[in-house]
Amino acid sequence: TKYILVSGGVVSGIGKGVIASSTGLLLKMEGLKVTAIKIDPYMNIDAGTMRPQEHGEVYVLHDGGEVDLDLGNYERYLDVTLSRDNNITTGKIYREVIEKERRGDYLGKTVQIVPHVTNSIQDWIERVSKVSVDETDEEPDVCIIELGGTVGDIESAPFVEAMRQFQFRVGQENFALIHVSLVPDMHGEQKTKPTQTTVHALRGLGLLPDIIACRLLTSAPLETATKNKISMFCHVQPQQVVGIHDVSSVYHVPLLLRSQGLIEFLHKRLNLQTINIPPGMI
Ligand code: ADP
Repeated sequence: TKYILVSGGVVSGIGKGVIASSTGLLLKMEGLKVTAIKIDPYMNIDAGTMRPQEHGEVYVLHDGGEVDLDLGNYERYLDVTLSRDNNITTGKIYREVIEKERRGDYLGKTVQIVPHVTNSIQDWIERVSKVSVDETDEEPDVCIIELGGTVGDIESAPFVEAMRQFQFRVGQENFALIHVSLVPDMHGEQKTKPTQTTVHALRGLGLLPDIIACRLLTSAPLETATKNKISMFCHVQPQQVVGIHDVSSVYHVPLLLRSQGLIEFLHKRLNLQTINIPPGMI
């Protein structure tokens, strides 16, 4: 299985879910089987008890799981049926670790965030990524993991650390990272400093971005000069910087990503074996 982690920086609610679903959709169009996991770094076990005015729609899955609405995006974009286990929360992980501790599974060891919580996160992701999400009963080729919140939060720290370790568990060629950042437009000038800061923080935590997805909250696309500046200051190639501006329908986002060479890049980076590559795509 290949894993693509989608993380976010600067602010939440910038369209990480849409970017993650769109990437999954493009890979599905390549003939790959795609599954998705959403990580919500809160203590609630699930979204069922959360106030919709604060949290947005609670999405109900086939197995009755009450989860974040991003899971709805995944089901709609990828045409898959996900289970409650495809939504990981801090609450679920802690519950699992505490239940194991009470059973004596840790054989008297001191139970800690590292390695017990971080191992539990990795084991969960590995287990769920192999579960079939369609009627074929086949293991998915690609698992998109969306990490909710922003990198640098206390809440997401155990998950960030788990993902840092996970790169080594599955191997570099099986793990890619898309980091979504905000590029504010100040009176017509696209500012790169928030992106530089968040990528710096990400690297400090041991995660290196393969793609920097720059979200613009205007209808103007990412300028070439801005792209080059981000490439230069964030230590990536210009083709690793993609822009996502405001579009009239979120279903345009896959096209926007494809037109910027995202799929070609992921193909090379992850050595993807596709069965029906549309002509002219590579
Ligand atoms: P996050 O996962 O970062 O919280 P979402 O993917 O849920 O963000 O997106 C937040 C909101 O922004 C959603 O209502 C979504 O429809 C909207 N949105 C995301 N990307 C775009 C875009 N490129 N253009 C217009 N609206 C967008």
